[in-house]
Amino acid sequence: MNPTNHTDSVIEEHLRECDECAREGLPAALLNEQLRAATVPVDPNLLSRRAWPALGAALAARAADNLRRRAARGVLLSLLPLAAVLAYDVWVLQVLHSFLDSIFPSQLATWIVVNYAAAIVLLLGATYAAIPLLVARQTAPPLEVHR
Ligand SMILES: [Zn+2]
Repeated sequence: MNPTNHTDSVIEEHLRECDECAREGLPAALLNEQLRAATVPVDPNLLSRRAWPALGAALAARAADNLRRRAARGVLLSLLPLAAVLAYDVWVLQVLHSFLDSIFPSQLATWIVVNYAAAIVLLLGATYAAIPLLVARQTAPPLEVHR
């Protein structure tokens, strides 16, 4: 419904229902015309400039909370298969150690396997550390704050 018609209908409805206004002869046509002519100049850019400083901090806090929740959910979901991954890695390291033990001296085989295990631990750590960064990248960029 357009606002002009709404104003007209509100005034006409009131005239039908209110005895006092009907008795006084409320100038409905004049009121409608004046209400239609009454406009308030609105500068959207000025309103934005005033609103952004007030909203910026709240939006940033909300975005940070959202990012924290999503990152925590991502890390928790990625921890689910971790036990199976670790068990598989231990099995692979045992097979590798027994294979290398048959070729090289025992201390060299152990050294190679420990270094390989350290590399796997480093990769796993880097993977879990990257989850919050990936979540942050997927999140929409923060709105530009106009000052
Ligand atoms: Zn009235």
